[in-house]
Amino acid sequence: MLDLTGKVVLVTGGSRGIGAATVRTLAAVGASVIVHYGRSEQQARSLVEEVGGEERAAALGADLAQPGAGAALFREAVAWRGRVDVLVNNAGIAPTVTVDDPDEAWADTWAQTLQVNLVAVADLCREAVRHFRTRGGGTIINVASRAAFRGDNPDAMHYAASKGGVIALTRSIARGYAREGILAYAVAPGWVRTDMAEGYLREHAADLARDIPMGDVVPPEEVAHTIAFLASELARHMTGATLDLNGASYV
Ligand code: NAD
Repeated sequence: MLDLTGKVVLVTGGSRGIGAATVRTLAAVGASVIVHYGRSEQQARSLVEEVGGEERAAALGADLAQPGAGAALFREAVAWRGRVDVLVNNAGIAPTVTVDDPDEAWADTWAQTLQVNLVAVADLCREAVRHFRTRGGGTIINVASRAAFRGDNPDAMHYAASKGGVIALTRSIARGYAREGILAYAVAPGWVRTDMAEGYLREHAADLARDIPMGDVVPPEEVAHTIAFLASELARHMTGATLDLNGASYV
């Protein structure tokens, strides 16, 4: 039943981690995928080859820390096949800064995190809504985080705040545009085994095993499967929902 044949999907930050797992899963169920990358062009191009080459996928670069880059990326993605059916906002950063760091480091970290994790996501969503309206609908899936609900370490409160913003943005789009056939969802993973989390996972393996009732962090493939399910429109009335994946560590 889960078949995305003929759908064109843009996955931001698609060259590695959760994004790369998502590209593989979506391609496996028939989608054509635009693999957006920030810096890792080589990884993005290899992934395009892996999932079927230029017939089935394309690589597009954009630095989402630059204001306006998200909107430009969406328009470029539309130009590939003349349309985009599903937008997966996955790209994100998780730098740290503490209340005791210098003012400049604090301000820069907040500004950069909100730009990449929230403003660029909003810009991509805006373009998507405008595009989807002309086509009678479309789907947005935003990658948030358990941190939006539970808070994060105090040195990553900007991260938690950005992801809380992503969930509020997602719900607003779902409410605002459901009548135009536009669906919007978020996923909120706990720790996922990727480059972003690697250092923390190595240092805190024992604590995590104790804290997470399932005993292990989330495999990126499970986030990818959840995204593919949401993209499938098998449960359209779930629009606005945020799906948790955290091994019962936040229930
Ligand atoms: P990752 O670091 O492997 O991937 C992040 C992706 O974002 C990369 O592809 C990177 O190129 C892209 N990116 C970052 N800054 C960019 C920029 N300025 N311009 C363009 N692209 C940029 O990490 P991941 O774990 O795969 O993270 C994917 C998403 O999942 C993020 O939104 C992250 O916040 C979220 N998340 C991760 C975890 C975790 O534990 N790993 C948990 C919850 C949510």
